[in-house]
Amino acid sequence: MLLDVKHIKKVYRTRGNETIALRDVDFGVKEGEFVAIMGESGSGKTTLLNITATFDEPTEGKIELNGQDLSKIPSKQIAQFRREELGFVFQDFNVLDTFNNKDNILLPLVLSDVPKHEMEKRLDEVSAFVGIESLLNKYPYEISGGQRQRIAIARALINQPKLLLADEPTGNLDSATSSQILDVLRSVNEAGNTIMMVTHSVKAASEAARVLFIKDGKIFHEVYRGKADSQA
Ligand code: ADP
Ligand code: ADP
Repeated sequence: MLLDVKHIKKVYRTRGNETIALRDVDFGVKEGEFVAIMGESGSGKTTLLNITATFDEPTEGKIELNGQDLSKIPSKQIAQFRREELGFVFQDFNVLDTFNNKDNILLPLVLSDVPKHEMEKRLDEVSAFVGIESLLNKYPYEISGGQRQRIAIARALINQPKLLLADEPTGNLDSATSSQILDVLRSVNEAGNTIMMVTHSVKAASEAARVLFIKDGKIFHEVYRGKADSQA
C-alpha cells in the first residue's frame, strides 16, 4: 500500500461542543490508483484530506505513506515532507498572482534546491503534459479558471510527488471546463501518478477508478468502476 489510513477518528472540540468528523475511517490506496472520496457537505471529506495532507492530526488512528507514520515526522521536517512527497490541487487554485505562471509552477523546486537545468527539464515535461506551454509567461490573473487549475496541477506534479491530493478540483469551474480538468487528472493518473480526490460531485467522482462514499464521518460504501464505464 502506498497510503494506509488506519482506523482514523477525528473529534473537533470547541467551547464545550464536540463534533465527531471522522469515525473509524480505514482504507488503503495502492500505488497508481485514482481514488475518489465522495460525500455531501459536512460528511468529513476535507477533514480526511487535511489529515492525509499533514495539515491536521487525527484524534485516534494513524496514516502511513510508504510505511512512514505521518505523526512521527518531526515538525521541522513537515514542510519539506509535504513539498517532496505530496502534491496539492485545491478548489480555489491557490496560485499566487504576484508570480507569473512559470514561477508559480517552479516554486516547490526552488524551495527544494533543485538544480536549474533539472528545473527547466521538468518544467518542459510537465507543461507539455498539462498543455500550458503558451501560458508560462503570463500571470494567473490573465488566464481563465480552467487554465489556472492546469497551472496548479503542473505545480503539484513538478516535484514528482508520491501522492496527489485534490480537494474539489472542479468546484469553481463550469461544466465544460470541469470535464477538461477531469480529463487532465485522468491522464495524470494514467501516466502512473496516484491520486486521492475528495468531492461532492458525482461527475468528478465517476472519473476515479474507485469511489469511497462517506457519510457522517464514516465510509459506508465502495465502488470499483468497471471496464464498460471506463470506455464511456
Ligand atoms: P466536508 O469536507 O465533507 O464538507 P468537513 O470535513 O469540512 O466536511 O466537516 C466534517 C464535520 O466536521 C462537519 O460537521 C464540520 O462542521 C465539522 N468541522 C470541520 N472542521 C471543523 C473545525 N475546525 N472545528 C469544528 N468542527 C469542524
Ligand atoms: P469544504 O469542505 O467544501 O471545503 P467547508 O465549509 O466544509 O468546505 O470547510 C471549509 C473550511 O472550514 C475547512 O478547512 C474546514 O476544515 C473548516 N471548517 C468547516 N466546518 C468548520 C467548523 N464548524 N468550525 C471551524 N472550521 C470549520
